Amino acid sequence: MTSRAGTPLVARAGFPLVVAAPSGTGKTTVCRALVARDPQLVFSVSHTTRRQRPGEQDGRDYHFVPETEFRRMKDAGAFLEWAVYNDHLYGTSFAAIDAALADGRDVVLEIEVQGARQVRERRADARLVFLLPPSWQALEARLRGRGTDGDEEITRRLRVAEGELAAACDFDYAVVNDEVESCVRELAGIVAAERRGDVASLRARFAPGPALERISVPRIARAGGRG
Ligand code: 5GP
Repeated sequence: MTSRAGTPLVARAGFPLVVAAPSGTGKTTVCRALVARDPQLVFSVSHTTRRQRPGEQDGRDYHFVPETEFRRMKDAGAFLEWAVYNDHLYGTSFAAIDAALADGRDVVLEIEVQGARQVRERRADARLVFLLPPSWQALEARLRGRGTDGDEEITRRLRVAEGELAAACDFDYAVVNDEVESCVRELAGIVAAERRGDVASLRARFAPGPALERISVPRIARAGGRG
């Protein structure tokens, strides 16, 4: 049924759009820019037990909670997914996404890969996008360029990134973040195609396997991995 203006009277439900990436891939910047330009997209505000950083706002960037409160919520079944990352707990509550989805808006979940896997298992309607660095060397250079971590910490982060990149094979799309503007445009194109239900060409263009091969991750390449 349609209105006189030709728009559907029965609104579609929104879908969760999971965006994951190794640290140093610029995921937060890209997600914020994507949401800022599309009123039908909402950012899911996670709960975390990590400390608030300067410039972050409670309720906007995260709900910052003590571990006892996080565990109480987890035991009460309040989370769609949750994970331990860098010794801290992170989770997406149903409350963070359900109202917007029911209202026909799509919700961006900027989360790490363990959480992304849980969403994949629990929400058949979720779309999963993995952001890739342009190359392994670029990722290494970005992590080193921050100048905040010593060699040992950088090696540890690179090892974590290897594992995260291996998970990209299970995602619907892999998009390279070479330049923020073009990456956001490509993501907006994916969202538009998913809304139309016309996804075959973009799923082929952004297939994770070939994209992973192109950036040649050292250990995955050595193991002759699935990429
Ligand atoms: P940060 O502490 O730097 O803000 O985030 C650390 C990692 O936790 C990032 O990879 C971020 O995407 C992820 N993260 C943020 N919120 C959630 C969440 O609700 N669930 C999961 N699984 N990961 C999250």
